[in-house]
Amino acid sequence: MGLLRKIRDTGRVAEPTPPRPEGHVPPQAKEFGGSVQVRCVDAGSCNGCEIEIAGAFNPVYDAERYGARLVASPRHADVALVTGPVTRNMAEPLRRTVAAMPEPRLVVAVGDCAINCGEFAGGYGVEGAVSDVVPVDLQVPGCPPRPDEIVAALRRVTGR
Ligand code: SF4
Repeated sequence: MGLLRKIRDTGRVAEPTPPRPEGHVPPQAKEFGGSVQVRCVDAGSCNGCEIEIAGAFNPVYDAERYGARLVASPRHADVALVTGPVTRNMAEPLRRTVAAMPEPRLVVAVGDCAINCGEFAGGYGVEGAVSDVVPVDLQVPGCPPRPDEIVAALRRVTGR
């Protein structure tokens, strides 16, 4: 009874929705109908970008309320969030992961390393940026990008 009263009295605790983000919207975003399943791929990052992606899906930034949901299999995914410079060992797994996603699909390069190899440019184990390995539809710059910037990119895809 105490819990029910608390639920009734607390009301809504989420932050108000920020304004809808501006910027490039990939053409295939229209086909997702306002929600996307998201598969994350760490292609060789330092894990800083992963921490911010985890933040983007936590209760504060809450990407799920804009229609983005994490999934474990690329076969269930509409969007791949790819972090890090692509290492030699991860180039082929990244190609296979994206190839396993159904069409229409979309690849988002998250972080400076994913966009241009960042700190790791020229490293002996680096194959290249994400766009050197698979087609990239959206970029989220930053080292690492903030969770709200990652959420904003996903909102451009879901249109919410
Ligand atoms: S962009 Fe920065 S935080 Fe992200 S993987 Fe590269 S070095 Fe790490």
